[in-house]
Parts: sequence; structure tokens; C-alpha cells
Amino acid sequence: MQVQRVVLASRPGKNGVPVPENFRLEETTLTADLQDGDVLVRTLYLSVDPYMRCRMNEDTGADYLGPWQLSECVDGGGVGVVESSRCSTCNEGDVVTSFNWPWQTYAVLKGSGLQKVDPQLAHGHLSYFLGAIGLTGLTALLGVREKGHVIKGANQTMVVSGAAGACGCIAGQIGRLDGCVRVVGICGSDEKCKALVEDLGFSAAINYRQEDVSTRLKECCPDGVDVYFDNVGGDISDTIIAQMNNGSHVILCGQISQYNKDLPYPPPLSKETQETLQMKNITRDRFTVLNYMSKADAALYELSQCVKSGQIKVLETVVNGIENMGDAFCSMMKGGNIGKQIIKISE
Ligand code: NDP
Repeated sequence: MQVQRVVLASRPGKNGVPVPENFRLEETTLTADLQDGDVLVRTLYLSVDPYMRCRMNEDTGADYLGPWQLSECVDGGGVGVVESSRCSTCNEGDVVTSFNWPWQTYAVLKGSGLQKVDPQLAHGHLSYFLGAIGLTGLTALLGVREKGHVIKGANQTMVVSGAAGACGCIAGQIGRLDGCVRVVGICGSDEKCKALVEDLGFSAAINYRQEDVSTRLKECCPDGVDVYFDNVGGDISDTIIAQMNNGSHVILCGQISQYNKDLPYPPPLSKETQETLQMKNITRDRFTVLNYMSKADAALYELSQCVKSGQIKVLETVVNGIENMGDAFCSMMKGGNIGKQIIKISE
């Protein structure tokens, strides 16, 4: 059968901004002759994520992430449906996901590498398995729980950077549900600020492209900052850390503002910020969701219940068509998304 796939056409360079032309759409022939253990899947939704920027480099800088190879099919989070199976654990019609789903309209995959999911958990919104009820939701929930030290009744203020993105949206809502009295989001547009406050229940939001973050933070966080969910790093994080309280906590989730630079992860902090952390006894532990997968099933169930009950609202930016994968990735890296960036591949 004829299928479409996306391959890596070129690398942006360690210090380059990725462009859609780094990706190329191709037609290819798929032999649907299944070997024992194989399944034929039809792709429903694909995910684009910031960590993919590292996979565009020859050396990803992370031992758990391999680089994408030139002219080879790109892969990442995906969800799809089993069309035919020669694997005892997968049946026709099953909905399955994987972190290594090829950017391809149909694919023959090893059934043993796929996780079966229950569509009921996502209330039929199968794209949620790539976002709020997938790795994104887990990152937010487990990041807050493992590193945030949120205590009900402790009158805490949480700040979230990258707040209108996939992880940020959920992290702020978890902070509120877990008992923070004030949750302030920082993001890159007025439209995003409005969504955070009006749709997701954030106490306030700051547009870092238009407003002076330091001044606005002082207004929005009169009692200082107790928990900081850091998605972006760089100047925004330095400004927030400068306003953190003694004994407060940074959840070091990601540093997207530094991903187009040739820097190790986590990128080095300024001397001033290092001194603030030390003087105020602020914890800043690196959080990696993949280290907590033993807690994933319970956490996904909790996320599913919160989404169903409306306690957590889900925002998504959905683009149609595999031909738009490169555009969607580059757009997400520059802030084109509100909530999780999803690409719909088929019905
Ligand atoms: P998002 O949906 O948040 O998309 C990325 C967002 O980053 C953009 O929408 C943009 O929003 C913002 N951004 C881009 N450049 C900058 C910049 N220079 N300064 C400030 N903000 C910027 O992606 P995810 O939710 O998937 O990922 C968020 C973070 O979480 C990333 O750092 C990622 O690496 C990390 N992560 C970490 C995991 C872990 O296990 N630790 C797992 C998954 C993700 P805006 O308009 O506001 O600029």
C-alpha cells in the first residue's frame, strides 16, 4: 500500500532555529505482509514536543535519546488504531500508543512495543493520550507531586513559566487542586493570558513579551513565590527565582528558551541566581518524567478522573495532515500553540 511519511531532510545545527524545510514528506510503499508479532496500525494523532529539538542534532546530549538520522523516518509520540494483527496481545480495532511512533500514515510495528489504551479513560478524545492523559499530564502531575512540596493549607503561591503550553496548563491546574492559594502563569501572548485566567482558573497571567515580568510578579505574588514550575529557563527563570521565598522549591521541568543553543542540559545558571538559590535554601531538583513510570498508571487514572469531572480543563491546538508535521513542530517551538500541539493524521 502507498503511505506518506516524514523524514529528516537536514539538521538546523546546534545553534540554529529549526525550520519546516528540515523535514521532508515522502510517499513510500508499505508491504503489509505481517511477520509473527507484527501489527499494521493506522495513525490517528501525532505529537510534537520540545525534546525533539535535541533529536535533530547529531549528538542529542542525552543518553536516553537517540538522534534522528538524515533521510530516515522521524518518530515520537503517537496514537493509532490496529488494522490487522499477528501479535497475540493486539486485536483489530485496539487503540494503541507508543513514544516511538513513526511519522507515517500507516506503519507495521512490533506489537510488543505498543501500549494498549482504553478510550474510555480519555472520554473518547484519543488525542488526550498524547497530552493531558499521556506523558504531558504525567510530567505536570508527577513534577508537582515529586518536586513541588505543595501542602494544602500552607498558603503557597505557585508560578508556572511556559504556562499556556501543554505541561504548563496542567501543572498550574494541579497546583491549584493540590492547595496553592495563588497560581500565576507566564506566557507569550495576551490571548494565552486570557485563556489561563478565564478558562483554566489561574489567579493571574503575565505576558512576558509585553510586560515587565519582575514588576508584574511583585504585583501578582505579594507574598513571594513558594513553588516555581520551570518550563523555560533563561531570563524569565532568573527573574522568578529572584522573588522566591526562603525554603521554596523550583521544579526543573524544562528549559526551552535555551534549546536552540549549544549548551549542556540543564544549562548553567548565572552566578547571581546560583547565589540566590544557596542563600535562600531553594531546592532546584531536575525532574525527568521517565524516572517515575512506576507511578504512571495511578497518575493517568487520576488525570482521567480530573478531566472527566471538569476539574482539569484541556486545551489543544490541532493541525490537520501529516504534511504539516514540520510546520507544527517549528510553530510549537516558537509559541504558536495554546495547550498541547497535536497533529491529526486520520479520522
Ligand atoms: P509546550 O506546549 O509548552 O510548547 C512550548 C512552549 O514554549 C511554546 O508554546 C512557547 O510558549 C514556549 N517558549 C518557546 N520559546 C520560549 C522562550 N524563548 N521563552 C519562553 N517561552 C518559550 O511544550 P511542552 O509542554 O511539551 O514542554 C514544556 C517544557 O517541558 C519544555 O521545556 C520541555 O522540554 C519540558 N518537558 C519536560 C519533561 C520532563 O520529563 N522533564 C517531559 C515533557 C516536557 P510562549 O508563547 O509562552 O512563548
